[in-house]
Amino acid sequence: MKVRVYFPGKVVNEPVIAQTILESKSLINILRATVDEHGGDMIIDIPEKDYTKIVNLLRSRGASVSMLEKPIILNEEKCINCGACISICPTKVFNYKEDKSISVDYERCIQCGLCINACPHQALMVHRKC
Ligand code: SF4
Ligand code: SF4
Repeated sequence: MKVRVYFPGKVVNEPVIAQTILESKSLINILRATVDEHGGDMIIDIPEKDYTKIVNLLRSRGASVSMLEKPIILNEEKCINCGACISICPTKVFNYKEDKSISVDYERCIQCGLCINACPHQALMVHRKC
């Protein structure tokens, strides 16, 4: 399952992820990371069975954590089904339905943000929650 982890500036130099992997003895797959000296966030993929353990360890080290249930928002009223998001998405979130409207596979999204800038009608937004 995918989880968004936010690191405030005071913990960016700490080995938060490494320690969490060691203590949880669980696999954590980093899908995207945007972190600098001021802080940042990461999208990680973790085993569902270890969710509580991993989240507790991350929070105990100063990170904020939220589930990535609906990582992007598509405003269907603004969408003109141009397909620009289909072309640019690196994880194949978008596709055409039979009626040529856009389908969204939220499970695949890693919140890279590429589709937000590519959409000519501002029909897409990243959902931020931490
Ligand atoms: S790029 Fe924007 S307008 Fe075009 S299909 Fe995707 S969401 Fe719709
Ligand atoms: S944010 Fe990135 S991964 Fe998510 S739908 Fe847009 S392009 Fe795809």
